[in-house]
Amino acid sequence: MSMPPTTTSPTVRADRLVALLDERELDALLVTDLVNVRYLTGYTGSNGVALVGEHLRCFVTDFRYVVQAEQQVHGFERRVGEQDLLDDAVAALPDGDLRLGIEDQHMSVRTYERLRRALPDSVEPVPAGGAVERLREVKDADEVTRIRAAAELADAALERTLAGGLAGRRERDVALALEQEMRRLGAERASFDTIVASGAHGALPHAVPRDAEIPRDCLVTIDWGAQLDGYCSDCTRTFAVGEPGERAREVYALVLRAQLAGLDAVRAGVSGRDADAAARELIEAAGYGERFGHGLGHGVGLEIHEAPRLSRTSDATLAAGQVVTVEPGVYLPGELGVRIEDLVVVTDGGCERLNGLPKDLTQVG
Ligand code: ZN
Ligand code: ZN
Repeated sequence: MSMPPTTTSPTVRADRLVALLDERELDALLVTDLVNVRYLTGYTGSNGVALVGEHLRCFVTDFRYVVQAEQQVHGFERRVGEQDLLDDAVAALPDGDLRLGIEDQHMSVRTYERLRRALPDSVEPVPAGGAVERLREVKDADEVTRIRAAAELADAALERTLAGGLAGRRERDVALALEQEMRRLGAERASFDTIVASGAHGALPHAVPRDAEIPRDCLVTIDWGAQLDGYCSDCTRTFAVGEPGERAREVYALVLRAQLAGLDAVRAGVSGRDADAAARELIEAAGYGERFGHGLGHGVGLEIHEAPRLSRTSDATLAAGQVVTVEPGVYLPGELGVRIEDLVVVTDGGCERLNGLPKDLTQVG
C-alpha cells in the first residue's frame, strides 16, 4: 500500500490550493471528490474527504481505511468518521465565520442538502468546483514519469495482442485480450473501456466492441489505455487488415497529416482552439470537415478526461507540463473511420510524445 515518493509533496499541493482559495476569498475547501482527495493527500481508498485551509489540513475516513490512511496520508490531521463523513468533517472546522468552498461539480443535490443542514450558521457553503482540477492540469516530473510508464505499458500490451493477428477474431475478444495483457503487465486496470471497431463500425467514434468477427480488407480502430499507479494513458491506432482500399488509404493519409499538424501546433502559450484549428484546417480543406465532429484532444492524468480541452470552443491556453492527447479523426457513416491519437507532454518549445508506436498505416494479418 505504500506510495512512492512524489516530486510535489502533499504539503506543497495543499499550499498551492490555499493560494487558489485566497483568490476566490474562501477560507477552506471541503474536498469530496476521491480523485482530488488522492491528489492532495495520497489516499487511494474509496471513502475519504479532506479539508484544506490556511491552517487546516484534515483528512477523514472510516474504520475500514484507518491503517491504509496511516500509511498514505501525511501532513494532515487524520480522523476516523462515520458513514458519509460529513458530520466529522464539519466537526473539524474551526469556530467562527467561514466561507467554505464545496466541490459542486461532483456533489449530489442530496449530499449538498445534508451538508447544509450539518453546517452551523456561521459557515457559508460556496460553490468552488474546479479548484483542485486547476492544480492538476500541470503535471510535475514525477506525474509525467508515471503517465509515460502507463503509455509504454499500453504500447507493449497492444504489440502482444496484435501478435495474434486481427482477421477472424471477434472485436470483443481482441478488447478482452488487450485488457488482460495490460493487467498482466502490471496495470491496475484499463483507463477506460477499450474500443475495437472494424469496418463501418469504426465510423462510431466511441464504438463498443461487438460480438462480431473482424473481416479481411478493412480498417480496425483500437483506442485503449492503461491505468498505472493511478495515472492514465490514452492512445489510438487504426490498422489495415489485408487491403482496406483506395478511399481508406486516402482518409488515413489525411488524418495522419492532420495529426502531425496538431502535434506541430502544440506548445506552451498556444490556445486549445488554435491547436485544434491546425489539424482541423487540413481536414476541412480536404472536404471532410463535417466528418471530424469532436475536439482535437483533452488533458489526461489521474482521470482519462481532464482539463485542458483542445477544441473549437476551448478557452484554454496550453502550459508546459500539461499532458494532452492529439487525436483527429474522420468518420464516414456506413463506410469506415480513422482516428490516430498520441499522448504528449506540453513543453515550452513544443511537445514530447509519451507513447511510441509507429503511425504509418500498418498492415496486420
Ligand atoms: Zn483514446
Ligand atoms: Zn482520448
